[in-house]
Amino acid sequence: MTKIPAYAALSARAPLAPHTIERRETGPHDVQIDILFCGICHSDIHQARNEWGGSLFPMVPGHEIVGTVVNVGAHVTKWKVGDSVGVGCFIDSCRECEACQEGEEQFCEAGMNATYNSYERDGKTPTYGGYSTNITVNEDYVLRIPAGMPLERVAPLLCAGITTYSPLRQYGIKAGDQVAILGLGGLGHVGVKIAKAMGAKVTVLSHSASKREAALALGADDFIDTSAEDAFKTNAKRFDFILDTVSAQHDYNAYLGLLKRDRNMVLVGIPDPIPLSAAPLVMQRRHLSGSLIGGIRETQEMLDFCAEHGVVSDVEVINIQQVNEAYERVLKSDVRYRFVIDLASLK
Ligand code: NAP
Ligand code: ZN
Ligand code: ZN
Repeated sequence: MTKIPAYAALSARAPLAPHTIERRETGPHDVQIDILFCGICHSDIHQARNEWGGSLFPMVPGHEIVGTVVNVGAHVTKWKVGDSVGVGCFIDSCRECEACQEGEEQFCEAGMNATYNSYERDGKTPTYGGYSTNITVNEDYVLRIPAGMPLERVAPLLCAGITTYSPLRQYGIKAGDQVAILGLGGLGHVGVKIAKAMGAKVTVLSHSASKREAALALGADDFIDTSAEDAFKTNAKRFDFILDTVSAQHDYNAYLGLLKRDRNMVLVGIPDPIPLSAAPLVMQRRHLSGSLIGGIRETQEMLDFCAEHGVVSDVEVINIQQVNEAYERVLKSDVRYRFVIDLASLK
């Protein structure tokens, strides 16, 4: 075991603070990664503050990790020292269940091993995320960063990128489709870029009127201020697909009314529950579903797609000492659009 520096939440009410964790020695199938950058996902905040319940403390968040391979185990075949790699939301899974066999490890029936706030496969060694200087991961759960991509702007793709790419791909979004991205935050802004790269006509639905110019600058074709009085009436039955990335409670029923008949709204944001009425679904045979990140194979496909289409995240790079201030700004929707921690500040 090696002791390394990290930032951790020691309880749901404590701000993140410097902390020391232990990483295992590089096993035969392991890759040791020197972490360069780690994005701040809203899920980090939900979990550090125990908003989903069951949080494990001390918690070292961070699942949008990019870095450089600095050591490989004796049996590692996929990676070599010096490779630019990424680690997303999970670092292992059972590999045997139907979901794992189908490359959908995020739905592992034995429970995926999340990058933090979880345990390794032994069920007792806590996992610690990317607000730290290095991480040791089994080689099968590591992603290749395509050459030439700016690493700090790639980091958010490891969660925000795959979480938006996967449903857009699974629901077959194609050129000309009217796609609405609900919420222009970390997930939403990457979703806009990916949906545009797929050829869709993209509209941003936002409760922040001040984001209009920025949304259009990102490539969106249209912008709707959802706090405007007639927004839901004027845009009724307009969209083929709505990707809902909102992190706070909001009325799903109202947004369903913006879908055409027989179309899909997919939730990826995970706020506290709110009541759902049957009518907006029943009356137009609409569909409401959810989506969770994506498997390793699809995550690699997403990175390659983003490299091909020039999609990267818009980021604000910070030192780790600013992490608590960054959390507060994320909660106020005051970030364009992802904070990314430069881990040089912890070394
Ligand atoms: P984020 O950067 O904070 O963005 C969330 C956006 O939601 C904000 O930018 C804001 O957009 C909108 N919003 C915030 N408060 C709102 C309110 N009171 N009413 C209406 N809209 C509000 O968060 P993120 O990192 O993109 O994550 C978004 C959600 O996805 C979180 O719940 C996170 O846990 C979840 N998530 C899910 C998955 C998955 O696999 N399903 C993966 C990653 C994250 P506007 O200002 O444009 O309205
Ligand atoms: Zn995330
Ligand atoms: Zn499994």
